[in-house]
Parts: sequence; C-alpha cells; structure tokens
Amino acid sequence: MHKTAERLARDGVVGLIVVWADNNGIPRSRTVPIEQLPQAAERGLGVSPLFAIFDTHDGITYGPPGLSTPSGDVRLVPVADRIVRLAGQPGFAWAPGRQMTADGSPWPYDQRGVLERQVEAAARAGLEFRAGYELEFRLSREDGPLAVVGPSYSPRLMLEVDEFATRLMRDLRANGVEIGQLHAEYGPAQFELNIAPADPLTAADLQLLTRQTIHAAARAHGLRACFAPLTDGARVGNGWHLHTSVARDGVNLLSGGDGPHGLTADGAAYLAGLLRDLPSIAAVTAPSAASLLRLRPGFFSSAYAFWGVENREAALRFVPSTGLLGAAHANVELKPSDASANPYLSLAVVIASGLAGIADGLVPPPPVQEDPGPWTEERRAAAGIHRLPATFEEQHAALNSGLVRAVLGEELFGAFTVVRAADQAWAEGRPLDEVIAAHLWRY
Ligand code: GLU
Ligand code: MG
Repeated sequence: MHKTAERLARDGVVGLIVVWADNNGIPRSRTVPIEQLPQAAERGLGVSPLFAIFDTHDGITYGPPGLSTPSGDVRLVPVADRIVRLAGQPGFAWAPGRQMTADGSPWPYDQRGVLERQVEAAARAGLEFRAGYELEFRLSREDGPLAVVGPSYSPRLMLEVDEFATRLMRDLRANGVEIGQLHAEYGPAQFELNIAPADPLTAADLQLLTRQTIHAAARAHGLRACFAPLTDGARVGNGWHLHTSVARDGVNLLSGGDGPHGLTADGAAYLAGLLRDLPSIAAVTAPSAASLLRLRPGFFSSAYAFWGVENREAALRFVPSTGLLGAAHANVELKPSDASANPYLSLAVVIASGLAGIADGLVPPPPVQEDPGPWTEERRAAAGIHRLPATFEEQHAALNSGLVRAVLGEELFGAFTVVRAADQAWAEGRPLDEVIAAHLWRY
C-alpha cells in the first residue's frame, strides 16, 4: 500500500475517496489524504453506523436494535485492488469500501458483504455469475434546461454533447470501465451507457465508479446528469437494467441447451427462479417511491411479472445467444431495476433467487412475446401474469416474503425495511411532481 500511495502522490493525487452505496442506492463517501492510504487500508476510516438507516432524503430513522442511538463506529476499509485514479478528477483516487466492525469482523449491515456471501454460495454450488449494468440518464444544462432537443437516438444529439461524450468515453477507459454502447435514448435528453459484463462484485463496484465518471464528465462541460428512476411523470424513466448470466465450468447455462431458445435445464431453472421471486427482487432492485412510479405499462420499464424472448416490455427479457453473438452473450435482463437500488443488494437477491430456482429444478412457463398491458385482467390472470408491486403496501408484502430477509440477514433486513417505511412516510400525501423532484439529484 505504501508503494501505491507513493505512486499516486507522485502522479499528483492528493486524496482517496472511499465510496459505498446505502440502502437507497445513494453513494456515500469519505476522503483521506493519499498519504494515509496504508493506514486506511489496514484500519479503515471511521463512519457512523447510522448510514444503515439513512432514508432517501437524508433523514435518520432510529429504531432497529443496535441502531437506536447516535453512538457507535464502523470502519470503512477501501478495497485495495480496486483503487483507481479518477481520470475526471485527477487529484483523487477512488475505491469502493467494505464496512467492518471496529475489531475487524464483518459488519452485518455491509451491503457489499451480502453480495460476497451470495457469490460464495454460488461457488459452493459450482456456479459463477456474470453481470453488467446498463445506465440510462438525462442530461441537462447546469442552469436548468435539457441539454439537447431532437429525435430519439439521433447522432445529432450525440453531436450536441460531443465534448461530454468524448471525455466520458476517454475517462471510462482510463478508469478501467469497459463499455458496450453509449447512445442517445428514447426520452428527452436521455442517454444510455452499458457496462461490459464482469463478475458480480466487479459489476457492482463498476456501477458506482461509472456514476462518478459520468458526473465528472458532465460537470466538466457545464452539464448535470440525472440518474433518478423517473424525471417526468409523463415520459419514459431511467432504467438501470441488470443483465446476468450463470455458468458452470465457464460454460454459459443460458445457451447451448436442448430447451427452448437454447436454454439448458439449469438455465431455464435460473430464469424460472427469478420469475418466481420477481416481486421480492423488485422490492430491492426498484425500491424507491420514484421506482414505483417508473414501473408503468407501455414504457419499456416493465410493469408485469413475466418473461419474454427479446421482449422489451417484459420484466425479464431473455437475450438468447445467436449465430452472430455467440454463446457467451446469452443473458437475462432484469428491467425493474434503477439507480435507487443498492447495486450489491440487487445482485445478491438476483443470484439467491436464481440459485434457488436451480436447486428446485424449476421450469418456466412459456415466454410471452406481447405487451400484456392492454390485455384484460382476466387474460393476464389466465396467463399467470401479475402486476409488480405498485404501492408501498404491496412492496412491503413482497419484501417480507422470506427471500430478502434470508439474503440480507436479520439486521440489514431490519434496517432496509425501516428505511423503506421512512420513504413511504415522506412520500405519503405529497403530490407526484414533488416526489419525482425530490429524487432527481440523489444518485
Ligand atoms: N427507459 C426504459 C426504462 O425505464 C427502458 C428503455 C429500454 O428498453 O432501453 O426502463
Ligand atoms: Mg435503454
């Protein structure tokens, strides 16, 4: 660590920003002088345990056992092999953090630790996961108006933000974030960037690093990036779709099988596991008041729990391998997922439900290739298609189904649910526009 600190200091780095994501998907951080990196890596940085019960609006929800007073200390330890000098903030290096107790043992509220446990559970079952986030965001000028006006997906929109886009692609590369595409999206001044797949911990770490990189590139060109799940009640929202695949001995189980669309029996069971637990998964992957507002039929954000092959209205869009794309490409895209989710917890619940599906040998129903939104309730019910939770009450019931409690562990589950209740109490009775506005600049 001494060598790393010296090298970074020689390169002009003055500080290390250590970041974690809270239970609202909001990145929080501490910064230390770069000379203190060796001590930070050993002993961590002191932070309050109360971040576990911060709500979306920075309210502190005292209550759960162990988190009922302002007392206590947690150590935030930078993940050493993830330290990167930020191309967009060259005075600073960046690292995701692990939250530990003062005696160095795992802290039960550490979201990254929850994902580490699921990755280990998968390894015990002989399975590895790959994951990649796809981030949609809206760009506006610092003084308020949208950054660009023009047809969706137009190269002219890219031209309007040329300096930003150039810097973003350069900085991402320098920060070690490999991407697939960057494009102008459907919504007004909306853009999308997808991060290349990686192992789950890397995927979640990179999601946080990519946010910081986008914000820095935007700021450098007088722009602001808005990651909120919904920016306008009448328009498409910002999905942060989560793509995953599962492999055994390096072979993707979502392709090359005898099942429909090349699924192997385990690959199909993975998909069926996600489908079985979708309401509970969505309560973690799309947890905020703004998330609930985003999940409307007809906006490609998913509103109903069903799967389809390349169906963009499906909560689970199966992307099969094809002759052109090859076996490694096959993946499942989870649509009810957004910036207000903690990326580590999201991946943890997805992996857990998928592992359970495989362990139970589940078989998925046939895929649905239409948009069931315009169908009658009877037709949807006959096809086994249900609305994803659309209210806090439904979300709360889905959270309590057992899966989330088991994955998060008793303590973190308690903190997560009181935070959701605090968000509900804040949102209740407020006009929709106020709820949407309050989420715009939180992520
Ligand atoms: N903007 C949509 C959402 O809220 C997604 C559009 C797409 O399919 O990429 O999830
Ligand atoms: Mg998109």
